[in-house]
Amino acid sequence: MPELPEVETLRRQLAPLMAGRTLDALEISDPRWCAPLAPEAIQDAVAHRRIERLGRRGKYLIAELEDEVFLLMHLRMTGTLLYDPQPPARYQRVRLVLDDGHDVAFRDPRRFGTGELAVGIEARDAFLAARLGIEPLSDELTGAALARRAKGRRAPVKAFLLDQRHIAGVGNIYADEALFRAGIHPLRRAGALTRAQHEALAAAVQAALRAGLDAGGATIDDFRHADGQSGAFQDEFLVHRRRGEPCPQCGTAIVKFVAAGRGTYACEACQPRPRRRLG
Ligand SMILES: [Zn+2]
Repeated sequence: MPELPEVETLRRQLAPLMAGRTLDALEISDPRWCAPLAPEAIQDAVAHRRIERLGRRGKYLIAELEDEVFLLMHLRMTGTLLYDPQPPARYQRVRLVLDDGHDVAFRDPRRFGTGELAVGIEARDAFLAARLGIEPLSDELTGAALARRAKGRRAPVKAFLLDQRHIAGVGNIYADEALFRAGIHPLRRAGALTRAQHEALAAAVQAALRAGLDAGGATIDDFRHADGQSGAFQDEFLVHRRRGEPCPQCGTAIVKFVAAGRGTYACEACQPRPRRRLG
């Protein structure tokens, strides 16, 4: 599932190809992509507008069109954006047709990806504010900010990290990698971490995301770069998907268990499991 580094990788690849072009048409072949909005409503709102910038917030890729019209795309589980795919992409749900003869296909076998429209900066900001918390690669992400948000929360820290309303853009891969880097067990309660652990976690989230970004994101299933290539970060995972392999720090076998409803990987020597409360 694409997370911040995967979405940002696509943004960096597509921004120079899309910015400054005019969107001749948005062809939506699967109305579920923009439901409950009708395809015609979103098509009419964006067509023939200049793309001023391709931005990102959390896992949303945002085409900023002239006159403050924003197309907010979310890749969800299996979405990716391909530039001039040859042959045409299978599982294509949407096509952005640019005025220079090129196009961008939204490919999405599982069809959970979405496209939404915001008209006006206020509408865009309200949309994002209702869904997303701290942007993790900004200086907003500090130990103090994490401590403030985690205060009193009994949920496991893994669930806390996955909640986009706290930190935007972290998913299952980068949550596991960050918790390992910080030496924190995924089942520890978010609100019970020490100040030093919150500091370590803030730094670890950033380090994990940067490592992912440097490797062009991770390709486990469907994620591809805009040119169809795979990311390389799956080869650099420290613990994620490494059950039974030696911990890169201490050699103990990595274990897999369920936390926050997700398959979770950790080294329980480096990330001591919280003591079970009795009674
Ligand atoms: Zn270890």
